[in-house]
Amino acid sequence: MRTVVLSVNVCLLMVLAGCAKEQTAGKAPAAKPEKMQYVETDTGRWLVHDMNRPTPPVVTPGEENPEGGFIGAPSDAVVLFDGKDLSQWTDTKGNPSKWVVRDGFMECVKDSGYIQTRQKFGSCQLHVEFATPSKVAGTSQGRGNSGVFLMAYEVQVLDSYDNRTYSDGQCAALYGRNVPLVNVCRKPGEWQSYDIVFHRPVFKGNKVVRQARFIVFQNGVVVQDCVWLKGGTGWMGPHAISDYQPHPDKMPIQLQDHGNPVRYRNIWVRELAD
Ligand code: MG
Repeated sequence: MRTVVLSVNVCLLMVLAGCAKEQTAGKAPAAKPEKMQYVETDTGRWLVHDMNRPTPPVVTPGEENPEGGFIGAPSDAVVLFDGKDLSQWTDTKGNPSKWVVRDGFMECVKDSGYIQTRQKFGSCQLHVEFATPSKVAGTSQGRGNSGVFLMAYEVQVLDSYDNRTYSDGQCAALYGRNVPLVNVCRKPGEWQSYDIVFHRPVFKGNKVVRQARFIVFQNGVVVQDCVWLKGGTGWMGPHAISDYQPHPDKMPIQLQDHGNPVRYRNIWVRELAD
């Protein structure tokens, strides 16, 4: 089935290439052919952002604590956000962030840019709680989009409650690379949690000699199980994804501004040995 789909894509590309050729013959400028990129995964070889890549089964998470509240940070954690202020955070240039704090959470403000920690981290355990907007707006990647970036690698945050998008970009995906094992999203506006164990990649010169590795729990359910990340997670086009680019051993943790008012609270981190 997938072979048929890929063949269709290849044919489409050939048709597009044919159109580009015809345009070149006339006066119109040549159309740039779309980059088609594939990723090797445990479930086979897939086109990046392929809508035919299977969606993970839906699982209902355990009930939220009716008393409210959340689990606090352990004694050896660095508390990055306790609901009071953004003293541990800046924008990507080191200036005060325009994200807002109220009622114990911080909220993304459109066009304010990513928010990032002052402190830099490499391999670590990260706990973060988030809520996509209760007022549902937009579709696919336009609904409740944000992201947790460890170094350059995004654990996608998205409203994936009854919101179809490409599977490698839904909530809890390692963006563009790895589909989560299950869709265990809560409803829009409800608080959710990520517990992430991250081991940084190791570079020698320009080459990655040990890939990054992720274990991710969403709402207490494992969604990424010891995944070795095959490359970067940066969007490079409708069907292309970034590769590894060398970077320092420690970098700020970032939360993405994708234009949607996603909220975060109770963020803490524990550094791990590489
Ligand atoms: Mg995102």
